[in-house]
Amino acid sequence: MNSTNKIPKATAKRLPIYYRYLRYLHEDGKDRVSSTELSEAVKVDSATIRRDFSYFGALGKRGYGYDVEDLMHFFSKTLKQDRLTNVALIGVGNLGHALLNYNFHQNNNMRISAAFDINKEIVGTIQSGVPVYPMEDMVQQLKMQQIDVVMLTVPTSAAQEAANNLVKAEVKGILNFTPIRISVPDHVRVQNVDLANELQTLIYFIDHYKTDDKDSLLPLD
Ligand code: ATP
Repeated sequence: MNSTNKIPKATAKRLPIYYRYLRYLHEDGKDRVSSTELSEAVKVDSATIRRDFSYFGALGKRGYGYDVEDLMHFFSKTLKQDRLTNVALIGVGNLGHALLNYNFHQNNNMRISAAFDINKEIVGTIQSGVPVYPMEDMVQQLKMQQIDVVMLTVPTSAAQEAANNLVKAEVKGILNFTPIRISVPDHVRVQNVDLANELQTLIYFIDHYKTDDKDSLLPLD
C-alpha cells in the first residue's frame, strides 16, 4: 500500500474510526472483513469505505473482502500508532487536569509528557504523573523534548499569547480547547474543540430538528 500524501480531509478523519474497529476484529481473531460488515460497524456507507480504502491502494477482493491484519498495520503506521507520540498540555486548570487524567495511552499510543502553567503552586510539581514546567521554559522544553503537538487549555485571555509562543517552539499542531479562534501561520494546524459550543449545538438540534434521518436533518414543522 502506498503512502497517504494527499488524501481528502474527510477520509483522514475516518481513519481512526476504521483503525479502532480493525483492532477490535484482530483481537477477536478475525482475518478478513467485508466493506458491508465494516460499514455496519462504523456507520459509514460501504461505497465511502471502498473509496477511502482505494486512496491507500487497498482493494478488497470480491468474495474475500479486506485482510484485517494488513489494513490494521497500514493504518497503525499511517496514524503513527506504532510508536508513542508525546504531546504537551498548556494550562493545568480544571479541564487540563481532566486531560492529564485521561488515559490517551491505553488505546491510542499517545501520552501527555509535559505540562506548562503560570501558577506557582503547581509549577515544579508532578500532576497525574506529568511534570509541570513554567511558561518561561515552554519554547525550550518543547524543542528539547521534540514535542510538536500540544493541547491548549489556558484561559481565553491567555490563548493568543500562548499560541504565539507555540509557533516559536515550532509546534505543528494545536488542539485548541479555548473558545477563541487563535491566529497562527499556515504551517501550524489548529483543531478547535469548543465543548460549550458543541453542547449548545446538540441542544439546538434536539430542539429544532427531527433525528430520524440524520444525514439530511429536516427542520420540525
Ligand atoms: P478550565 O478553564 O480548564 O476549567 P480553570 O477555570 O480551573 O480551568 P482557568 O482560569 O481557565 O482555570 O486557567 C486554566 C489554567 O491555565 C490554570 O491552571 C491557570 O493557572 C493557567 N493559566 C492562566 N494563565 C496562563 C498563561 N498565561 N499561560 C499558561 N497558563 C495559564
